[in-house]
Amino acid sequence: MCGIVGYVGAQEAAPILLDGLRRLEYRGYDSAGIAVLSESAGLQVKKAKGRLKVLNAMIDGGRSVDGFIGVGHTRWATHGEPNYINSHPHTSEQGKIALVHNGIIENYVEIKDFLISRGVHFCSDTDTEVVAQLLEYYYLISVDLLGSVYKVLDRIEGAYALGILCADMPDTFIAARKDAPLLLGFGEGCSFLASDATAIIRHTRDVVYMDDGEIAVLTRGGIQLYNAMQQPIEKEHHHIEWEVSAAEK
Ligand code: GLU
Repeated sequence: MCGIVGYVGAQEAAPILLDGLRRLEYRGYDSAGIAVLSESAGLQVKKAKGRLKVLNAMIDGGRSVDGFIGVGHTRWATHGEPNYINSHPHTSEQGKIALVHNGIIENYVEIKDFLISRGVHFCSDTDTEVVAQLLEYYYLISVDLLGSVYKVLDRIEGAYALGILCADMPDTFIAARKDAPLLLGFGEGCSFLASDATAIIRHTRDVVYMDDGEIAVLTRGGIQLYNAMQQPIEKEHHHIEWEVSAAEK
């Protein structure tokens, strides 16, 4: 289980995501990637096997990827070898969804078989790709992203921290977790997601730790949390007192 970072705000997302991923490098990983969304360019996915500096060089420190919203990932492969195709973010066949995942989807074979029987084509060997494809499958039927996320979470078994972008929603991304760490960061005109506070502490110390079954909808104007019953909830905010240098040790 490695790293996740997410950002939506008024600044270019890619350099912020790369910086956040760099803060998570100490956890170890085999590949890294980001997905950034903009109205003009749509969903842009950039990823690379190996060190983060390979990705960083590929996209000129993030400067070649435009957009104010995105998610990033460092992968520690559990299903499928460490290579370009298997690295995250994973996208759905019609290009509506891009997502990052930490954890393991235990029943992915069964879901993959179901989706293949419905004509969906897979390209990776990962457990994660089924989440992107299943989410698009429900979304194309309902055109309700949040409702579709709940349907997906009802169906998948295992551990997950998820950061989800939808091509039709250039202002919003969604997070969900079960048995994998994930926290939300509240900034001035911006919102953050991270698997570990060290990824975002340079930007905000005002955080909420997500609990199992919760879903968060992040926009630059704020973050709305929902419980497993799809009810909006308020949670206590924590102020992080410690310094990054202490945490990195
Ligand atoms: N199980 C997923 C994969 O193998 C996620 C691994 C991770 O947590 O980095 O791609």
